[in-house]
Amino acid sequence: MAEHESLEFGKADFVLLDSVSLEEFMANLKLRFEKGRIYTYIGEVVVSVNPYRAMNIYGRDTIEQYKGRELYERPPHLFAIADAAYKAMKRRNKDTCIVISGESGAGKTEASKYIMQYIAAITNPGQRAEVERVKNMLLKSNCVLEAFGNAKTNRNDNSSRFGKYMDINFDFKGDPIGGHINNYLLEKSRVIFQQEGERRGSESLLRSLHVSKDPTAYSYIKVGGQVKSSINDGADFKAVADAMKVIGFTPDEIQTVYKVLATILHLGNLTFGVDGDTTLIENSKVVAVIGVLLATKEENVEKALLYRTVATGRDVIDKQHTTQEASYGRDALAKAMYERMFCWIVGRINDVIEVKNYDAKVHGKNTVIGVLDIYGFEIFQNNSFEQFCINYCNEKLQQLFIQLVLRQEQEEYQREGIPWKHIDYFNNQIIVDLVELQHKGIFSVLDEACMNVGKVTDEVFLQGLNSKLAKHAHYTSRKLSPTDKSLEFDRDFRIRHYAGDYCMAPLFAIKSLCSNPVLKMMWPEGKLSITEVTKRPLTAATLFKNSMIALVENLACKEPYYVRCIKPNDVKSPLLFEHERCRHQVEYLGLLENVRVRRAGFANRQDYPRFLQRYKMISEFTWPNHDLPSDKEAVKRLVQGCGFEHDVAYGKTKVFVRTPRTLFCLEEQRDEM
Ligand code: ATP
Ligand code: MG
Repeated sequence: MAEHESLEFGKADFVLLDSVSLEEFMANLKLRFEKGRIYTYIGEVVVSVNPYRAMNIYGRDTIEQYKGRELYERPPHLFAIADAAYKAMKRRNKDTCIVISGESGAGKTEASKYIMQYIAAITNPGQRAEVERVKNMLLKSNCVLEAFGNAKTNRNDNSSRFGKYMDINFDFKGDPIGGHINNYLLEKSRVIFQQEGERRGSESLLRSLHVSKDPTAYSYIKVGGQVKSSINDGADFKAVADAMKVIGFTPDEIQTVYKVLATILHLGNLTFGVDGDTTLIENSKVVAVIGVLLATKEENVEKALLYRTVATGRDVIDKQHTTQEASYGRDALAKAMYERMFCWIVGRINDVIEVKNYDAKVHGKNTVIGVLDIYGFEIFQNNSFEQFCINYCNEKLQQLFIQLVLRQEQEEYQREGIPWKHIDYFNNQIIVDLVELQHKGIFSVLDEACMNVGKVTDEVFLQGLNSKLAKHAHYTSRKLSPTDKSLEFDRDFRIRHYAGDYCMAPLFAIKSLCSNPVLKMMWPEGKLSITEVTKRPLTAATLFKNSMIALVENLACKEPYYVRCIKPNDVKSPLLFEHERCRHQVEYLGLLENVRVRRAGFANRQDYPRFLQRYKMISEFTWPNHDLPSDKEAVKRLVQGCGFEHDVAYGKTKVFVRTPRTLFCLEEQRDEM
C-alpha cells in the first residue's frame, strides 16, 4: 500500500478504488498521469505510464528516500519495487526477478535501467573496488547492447530489437559480484528491411566506418527512407566505443565488429544477374571490398554467395543458386552475420561480468536478482514471423504472471495461516497451447510445412493450420469463417517465409574461408561434414519456443516482481493521454483482473510492528506505548477499538485488511489526531 497521498493525485494503489471497473481504473490512471504521478501500484505490482519527459524523480535524494523502506511508506516508484526485490533477496535469501512488460515504447528499457541504477546505488557501502568494477561493467553493458540491439522504429526512437534477461549475482553481504545476460530473438529482419521512416540499429556506428559519409549509398539503410532522429549519433558512437573499451573488448575485436558491420552494408548492395546458365554477381568491386573486410579471397566470397552445399547420397556437392536464391541467400547471410556478431558480443560481455571464484561454502549462498526486459505485444498490419514470436512470448509471460501472482497470494496466506478462497480468472493457457503444443500447435504445423524445403508456401502452412486447428476455440482463419472481419490470427500466420535454414550454407562457407581470428570466434563450428549438411537444423520457431520455455522455467522458480508499462500515446507526447490506446493496454495486460485478485483476498497486509507504528496514536491502548504481551495483541486491541474486526484477519506476523475502506478510515483517524 502506498503512503496516504493527497487524493488530488488519485489513488496510489488501484486496489483502493471504490469499485473495480474499467472506467474507474482509467480515470485514476489518467488523473495520476496528468498530475505527473507516473507510477501506481496494484498491490506489489507497479503500473507505469511513460511520461515522455525528464522527471526529477530518479536522483540521489529520491534513492535515499526509498532505501530500506516498505512499499506503502512512500509514493509508488520503481525504486520501491527494486528495494522490495533486493530485501527479499538479502533478508530471506530468495532469488528474485523483476519482469518488465509492455508494448514497444512503453518504457521498459528505461525502467530496467533505473532499477539497475538503484541497485548499484544502494549496494557496496564499503566501496570495495571489485564490487565497484562489477557494477560499472553491468551498467556499461547496457550501452553496448543497446548500440547493437536497438533501432529507431516508428514506435520508439530507441527500440530494443532483442529480449534481454539479466541476472545480477550477489554475495552474502548483498553486494553485486557479477551477472549474466541472456538475449532472445534479435529481430534480424530489420537488418535488411525497415518499415517506412525507420532505420537500422547501429547506423551511428556504421557512419564511422569510413565506407561512405552518405547513408543513402547503402540499400539496406535506404529502404527505410529518410529519417529524422532524436538521437545524437556522434556522441553515442563515442560512448559505445568507450563502453566497449571499458568492458574489455580489444582494439582488434572492436575493429572486427566494424568490419562485420561494413560487410553487412556492402552485402546489401550486391546484385545478381545471369549469363547463360551461370548466375553471377554484377558488382565485382563490392565483392572485392567484402573480401578485404573478411580477410578472404574474392572468389571465396563469390562462391559463398552463388552456391550452396547440398548432400547427394554420400557426397557433398556445390549447387548453383538462381538469382532469386542468391538474393535471399545474401539477405540471409547479412542477417545471420549480424546475429552471430550480436551473440558474440553478448558472450564477450558475459565472459567479463560472470561470477568467478565464488565459493558458496566459504561465502554463503550466491543469490540472484533477474531483470527481464522483453519486447511487448506488437500488432502491425502485416505481422511477420518475428512479431508472432514476440506475441507468443508475451502470452507465455502473461500466463506466468497469472500463475505467480495467484501463487504468491496463496503462499502468503498459507505462511500466515489464513484461509484462502479460490477465485476465477481468465487463464490464457489455451492460447499458449494453441501455439506450442506438440503435433498440433502452430509451431509444429510450421515445422512440418518447413520440412519441404523449397516448396514451403503460405498455402501449405495455412492448410495445415486449417485442418489441425479448425475446432480450436481460439483459432480461425478467413477460410474457416469468411465473414469474420477481425481475423487477427489469419493475418498473423500469413507469414513471409523466413530463410531460417537457408542461411546455413553461405555462413559456413564464409567462416571456413576467412582468416581473421575474431571472425573465427564468431563462427566457432568447424568445417562442414556430410552429416551436418544433411542434418535438418532446428527451425527458428523451435529454437525460440525452447528458449521461451527455459526462460519461463527460470522465472517461475524465483520470487517475481512486476512492472507493467503503458504507452500513453503514439506521438511521444508528455501531455496526451489517449484513452482508447491506454484502455486497450490495460485490458490485455490483465490489470483489472490483477486488481480483482488482489482485492478478493486482502487489499493490504502489514507486519504488526509497522502497523502499530503507523496507527498507534488512534487508540488509548497503544498510545504512546502498549503494555500488551505482543504487538499482535496490541494490533487486535486497536482494531477492536475502531470496530473493524469483521474486516481484518490476523496472520502469524502480519495483519491483513480486506477492504481499502478500512484503511481509509484508519488513515483519516490518524490525520485527525
Ligand atoms: P521497446 O519495446 O521498443 O524497446 P521500451 O518499452 O523499451 O520499448 P523505452 O525505450 O524504455 O521503451 O522508452 C521509450 C522512450 O520513452 C525513451 O527513449 C524515453 O524517451 C521515454 N521514456 C520512457 N520511460 C521514461 C521515463 N521514466 N522518464 C522519461 N522518459 C521516459
Ligand atoms: Mg526497450
